[in-house]
Amino acid sequence: MTDSLQYLKGVGPSRARALSAEGIQSALDLVRLVPRGYVDRSTASSLRAVMQNLQSSSLWSNAGSKDIAAITREVSVVVTVSHLGERTVGRGRRMLQATVVDESGATAKVIFWNAVNYFGKLLSADSAFLLSGVPEYDARFNQVTFTHPEIEKIDAEEIEQLASGVVLPTYSISQKMRAAGVSDRLLRSMIDQVLDDVLGSLPEVLPSALLSRHGLLPRALALRYLHQPPTIAQAAEARRRLKHEELFYFQLRLAQRHALQSQPRNGLVMEARSPRARHLVESLPFELTGAQRRVIHEIVADMSSGSVMNRLLQGDVGSGKTIVALLCMLNVIDNGYQAVLMAPTEILAEQHYRGILRMLRDMDVVVCQVVGGQNKRQRSDVAERIASGEAQIIVGTHALFEANIEYNKLGLIVIDEQHRFGVAQRAELMKMGKHSHLQNNQTGQPPPDPHVLVMSATPIPRTLAMSVYGDLDLSVIDQLPANRKPIVTKVVFESGLPAAYEFIRSQVAEGKQAYLVYPLVEKSEKIEAKSAIEHFEHLSQHVFPELSLGLVHGQMTWGEKDQVMQSFLQRELQILVSTTVIEVGVDVSNATVMLVENAERFGLSQLHQLRGRVGRGADQSYCLLATKDHFQYQLKRNHSTTERANSVVRLRTMEETTDGFRIAEVDLELRGPGDVLGTRQSGLPEFTYANIVTDAAVLSKAREDAFLLIRADPTLSKPEHQLVKRHLDELHQHGHAAIIA
Ligand code: ADP
Ligand code: MG
Repeated sequence: MTDSLQYLKGVGPSRARALSAEGIQSALDLVRLVPRGYVDRSTASSLRAVMQNLQSSSLWSNAGSKDIAAITREVSVVVTVSHLGERTVGRGRRMLQATVVDESGATAKVIFWNAVNYFGKLLSADSAFLLSGVPEYDARFNQVTFTHPEIEKIDAEEIEQLASGVVLPTYSISQKMRAAGVSDRLLRSMIDQVLDDVLGSLPEVLPSALLSRHGLLPRALALRYLHQPPTIAQAAEARRRLKHEELFYFQLRLAQRHALQSQPRNGLVMEARSPRARHLVESLPFELTGAQRRVIHEIVADMSSGSVMNRLLQGDVGSGKTIVALLCMLNVIDNGYQAVLMAPTEILAEQHYRGILRMLRDMDVVVCQVVGGQNKRQRSDVAERIASGEAQIIVGTHALFEANIEYNKLGLIVIDEQHRFGVAQRAELMKMGKHSHLQNNQTGQPPPDPHVLVMSATPIPRTLAMSVYGDLDLSVIDQLPANRKPIVTKVVFESGLPAAYEFIRSQVAEGKQAYLVYPLVEKSEKIEAKSAIEHFEHLSQHVFPELSLGLVHGQMTWGEKDQVMQSFLQRELQILVSTTVIEVGVDVSNATVMLVENAERFGLSQLHQLRGRVGRGADQSYCLLATKDHFQYQLKRNHSTTERANSVVRLRTMEETTDGFRIAEVDLELRGPGDVLGTRQSGLPEFTYANIVTDAAVLSKAREDAFLLIRADPTLSKPEHQLVKRHLDELHQHGHAAIIA
C-alpha cells in the first residue's frame, strides 16, 4: 500500500514527485483525498443561469447576510475560449484575460493575475474546459467574471459522461501538481486504479448497532461513493457516514476524559452561605436577571460539591457577568478563602478594581491589585498582603500569576474575557494559578486546587462549546438586563462623515459621551498609534474644537491610559478617540455613541465587542460604522470579490442584529471555528470530512453515541468494543487527522 504511485498508469516519476511533495505518496493517501466538489448534469450550470442568479440576488439591497451563500457559492461550467489577451496594468503587473462562452451562448470573463504564462498556454489549447469558481457580477456591464477559477481541459468523452448522468468529483490541485500535469482527470483515473485494492482490506470501525441506528453506509462503500458516486445524493450519504465516524471518534476521546474527571476529587468545599453576597444583592440599584440568578446558583452549587470546579460562564456583552463573578467571590471569602479576578488588559483590570472597591465600599473586604505597571516597592507590598492572607479579593492582569506572587488560601480564580487569552493560554494560566499557592505549613502538602471560573462573551452554539471546552462545565447567561434598548446601528459612508460628526455633537450637547475608534492600519502598534494621534489632532483642532477630547492607544503606558480613562469616566472628556484597546469590557454607561472608522477592517466579533461599549445604560445608544464610499457603490452593485463580500456581510449583519449568538454564527460561517475560537493549537482537531459548525446535527448524534458507549463500557473492554478501542488507539498514534489507518 505504500508502493510508489509512479507505476500507476499516466503518472511517472515527475508527477509522482509532485504528488509526494503534497503528501500523496500511497494508494491510501489517494483514497483519503476529499473531493472539493462534484460536477454532474444537475450541478454544472449554464453561464446564462449563473448570470440570472446573480442578477436577482443583490446583497446590499435584499436579503443581507442570509444571502451569503448565494454570492460565495462555487459553480462549474463547461466552456470554450472565444478570446484570449494579455494586458499590463498599474506598475507593469500582467493580467491574463479570457472571454469564455458556453452552450447557453452566454459569456463570462476569466481573469488570472498569477501564473500568466501557464494559464495563457493552457487556455490557448483547442479544447473545452471545465471551469469552477465563485462568479462575481457587475451590473454596469451585465457581466460575470471569474478570478482565478479552477480550470482544466475536458475531453469529448467526459462531456459525454456528464451528459449521460455520470458524477465527476473534483479535487484540490496545488500549483506544484498542476505544473507537473496533475489534473482532476488524472486523479480520478489514479483513484480508480487503486480503489478496489484499498477498500478490500479496510475494516469497518463503527459498531453495527450504530450504523443501523443512523442508517449509515458501511465504511468501504462510503469511500467508494465519495470518489465514484452513482448520484450526487449518494455522495452526500457517503460524506454523512464519514463525518459521523470522524466526530464519533473525536467525541469518544472527550467522553473518556469526562469520565475520568467526574470521579469525585478532593476539592475545596465552599458552603453556599454568604452574608456579604446577600448584603451586596440587597444594595444593588437593580434586580438580578433570572439568568444571572440561575448561573450563580449553578456556580455556588458546583463549588460546594466537593469536586474542583472548572466552569465556563458564557454571556453576551453587557449581560452582567461581573456582578455574577463578584457575588461568587464573596461566597468564597465568606468561607475564609482568597479570590482572584484576572483581566486581559490593564485598563480592564483597573476598571474592575475600582468597580469592586465602589461596590464593596461599605463592607470590610480587603481588595488588592496586581498589574504590570507597578514599581518594585508597590509590588512587594501587595505580594506580602497576598501571602499573609490579608488580601481577600485580588484583581489584576496575568501578572497575578508571576513567580513572585504566592497566595495564602486561594479558593477561586476567575478569568474574565477569556476569549482574549486563547484556549491554550487559558489552560496555561490555570496551571500557573494552581501552582502559585503556599504549601500547607503543618503537613507540607500542597493545598487542594482552587476552583476556576472562566468568563467569555463569545456566544457559541452549545454543541460547539461542549466540544471546544470539553473539559469545562458550562453556564450560560442567556438574557440581557431588562432596561436595555437595542443599540441602533447604521453603516455610514465617508462622504457622510460630517453628518455623523454633527450627530455626535448633538448627543454631547445632551450630556452624553462618545467613542471614536480607529482600526489597526498596519500590523504595527506604532503605526496604529500614529494614525490615532493624527486623527485625534485633526478632530480636536478642526472638527470638535469646542469639546474636550482624549486619546488612548496601545503605545501609551498603563498610567497614561488609566489617567485618560478616568477623566472620561468622570465626564471631564466628552469624546474618547481610541484604537482597539478600548474593545474589551470597558464600562462607561453615559457613553451613547460610537463611531468606528474603516469599519470594514474589523472582524465581526470585534465589531460586536466594540459596540458593546455603548448601550450599557437605559439611554438609547448608537453605533455608526463608517466605511469607504466605493463600498457603497460596490455593495449596491453587488460587484465584489469574496473578501469584499465578506466585509459587506459583516457590516450588514451588524446593522441587522444585536444578538450575539446570531453574530457568532455568521462569524463562524465566514471565518471557520479555528480562527473564531483561536483553537488551532489547543485541542480542536482539523477535521477531514466534518465541519464542526455546519455539521452540528451530526455532531450531537455522534456525541450521544460516544457518551452512551463510554457510560456502558468506560474502559472499552467488552469484546464487541475491541474494534473501536483498536481504532481509537491507532488514531491516537497518528494524531487526529488520520481517520483511515
Ligand atoms: P459583561 O457581561 O459584558 O461583562 P458587565 O458585567 O460589565 O457586562 O455589566 C454591564 C452593565 O450592566 C454594568 O454597568 C452592570 O452594572 C449592569 N448590570 C449588570 N446586571 C444588571 C441587571 N440585572 N440589571 C441592570 N443592570 C445590570
Ligand atoms: Mg465584562
